[in-house]
Amino acid sequence: MSEPILSVSGLKRSFVQGDVTIEVLRGVDFDLAPGEIVALLGPSGSGKSTLLQAVGLPGGGFAGSIRIDGVEAASLDNEGRTKVRREALGFIYQFHHLRPDSSAMENVVLPQLVQGHSEADALVRSAELLGALGLAARVDHKPSKLSGGEQQRVAVARALANRPRLILADEPTGNLDEGTADVVFGQFVELVRAEGSAALVATH
Ligand code: ADP
Ligand code: MG
Repeated sequence: MSEPILSVSGLKRSFVQGDVTIEVLRGVDFDLAPGEIVALLGPSGSGKSTLLQAVGLPGGGFAGSIRIDGVEAASLDNEGRTKVRREALGFIYQFHHLRPDSSAMENVVLPQLVQGHSEADALVRSAELLGALGLAARVDHKPSKLSGGEQQRVAVARALANRPRLILADEPTGNLDEGTADVVFGQFVELVRAEGSAALVATH
């Protein structure tokens, strides 16, 4: 058995609102193997986003253990968490948070430059990802000139750009109509598989 990419144990989180304490995560335990894609299912308010947030290493507010690639999150300082976030994790949200003034290509290139890749390599990688998602003819479009489904595909390409070993996706297609959501979700899963990454995906 290979070492899990993600190992969560005894994870707890509660929120205090006035006199009321809401226990959202009450000792969550699970492992995710490299290459595994797991859906987090549950109604709105059940704690999916809270769980994904914890795995995104906010650095406080959670009790229990989170190990990413064998490294215990609690042992990391700020800098260490930022490094894991940048190098091992990819994030996709319900609303894409693309840079509005940058093209699809630039949105996918930028995180690679931040990571220290050359512009030439970043352009090749971006073209490969956007092409795999059917956006070869849209690379110069800004987000406002793309459909909702296309915008989310760009967000998928951006999240995968630095080859993260673990993708965290919070209702990545929750903002799309059902038909488009199915297509984008299918492409997302196919691409994550092809890349050999693991993914934890909240979906309702
Ligand atoms: P989901 O993503 O499954 O819809 P969330 O993780 O967003 O659920 O929320 C789970 C519960 O935690 C909800 O009852 C929500 O109201 C509560 N909650 C989430 N974030 C906060 C917060 N910052 N302060 C107080 N309560 C919160
Ligand atoms: Mg949520």
